[in-house]
Amino acid sequence: MLKEEVIQTDQDYFMNVFGKRFPIVLERGEGVCLYDNEGVEYLDFAAGIAVNALGYKHPQVTEALKEQVEKLLHASNLYYFEIQAKLSKLLVENSCGDKVFYGNSGAEANEGAIKLARKYFKEQGQEKYEVITAKESFHGRTLSTLAATGQTKYQKAFTPLPKGFKHVSYNDLNAAQKAITKQTAAIMVEPIQGEGGVNPAQKEYLQGLRELCDQAGILLIFDEIQTGIGRTGDLFAYQTYGVEPDIVTLAKALGNGMPISAFLAKDRVADAFKPGDHASTFGGNPLACRAAYATLQVILEDGFLKKVKEVGAYFRERLEQLAVQYDSVVEVRGKGLMIGVELKISAKEVVGKLLDGGVLALTAGENVLRFLPPLIITTEDVDQLVKSLDRILAE
Ligand SMILES: *Cc1c(COP(=O)(O)O)cnc(C)c1O
Repeated sequence: MLKEEVIQTDQDYFMNVFGKRFPIVLERGEGVCLYDNEGVEYLDFAAGIAVNALGYKHPQVTEALKEQVEKLLHASNLYYFEIQAKLSKLLVENSCGDKVFYGNSGAEANEGAIKLARKYFKEQGQEKYEVITAKESFHGRTLSTLAATGQTKYQKAFTPLPKGFKHVSYNDLNAAQKAITKQTAAIMVEPIQGEGGVNPAQKEYLQGLRELCDQAGILLIFDEIQTGIGRTGDLFAYQTYGVEPDIVTLAKALGNGMPISAFLAKDRVADAFKPGDHASTFGGNPLACRAAYATLQVILEDGFLKKVKEVGAYFRERLEQLAVQYDSVVEVRGKGLMIGVELKISAKEVVGKLLDGGVLALTAGENVLRFLPPLIITTEDVDQLVKSLDRILAE
């Protein structure tokens, strides 16, 4: 199909929730580049919104998936699978969690985490169900995760939303403390707010939340769906901050493009789930687990995360230079390869111009440019992006 035909067919048959998408039809990817169906190459600083951590057609992931496709795609969690067991061991050995559960999307992981927090207190005969989350947070699009999300623009069309969520200002420890009541089960935050504008937590804030939760006997949940799996230069952002949650949720980069999500919890919390309490038909199927296992193996290789930190620091430095040079740049923020650039001008317009110049990037809100490149980008790739951005800001 020609590009125009694809776009027209989509408009005719797909629900219009994405409005006008960027006018390109992507066909294949290799390394850190994507190619459209007219053969145009794009340098990718979006990575499918933090999903394609190893870029495209990564040999180890591709080989693993090919092999798994020949063997078994799915057969239900009524049975055991070696690859699922191996993935669980690998995740637990490399995280603060003792047990894991798999789903298919970020929202599903957060739903599961919320259910586990409620069940944890039910087991103790306590009626604690409320979850405190942050304003400007993003936790998903199902009704409960939408209720958890602290942005009315996503919520207002779908009220009434499930009860049991309270939103407080991010990076405001006092606000969190005041919001805790007898009904509070957990505080759930993103260590760096992604969708909400690439807002990093202050270290003292996360440390303070940990202390608040310990004092109140409630759970601390980190939504690491965007920050997890190497994005910040550590396997998890909680390591970057040195603050351990009781439950951590993962999704985006976990399968490098295969849909898989997970939540991990400490044993004393995870033990609250009993047979029959939770399940997912597709969650953790052999194909998805194989993708996640291969992805994690690469990210855990010696030196991989060190390189993410180095390239991230270089990227950050180059962007800081632009911030000095141009009045239209307000601030550069983030960690590792999760970087936001707050602008005085429309971020969407800049992203459109970057696309015209062959570079894919993201926005977060009206005026924040968001970069979530594959973790395998090089300083040369960064130079290419910065050159394009420099040209656009100079206009
Ligand atoms: C993307 C995202 C989600 C939702 O993930 P889905 O797979 O779209 O359901 C939840 N939380 C955070 C922090 C995210 O970035």
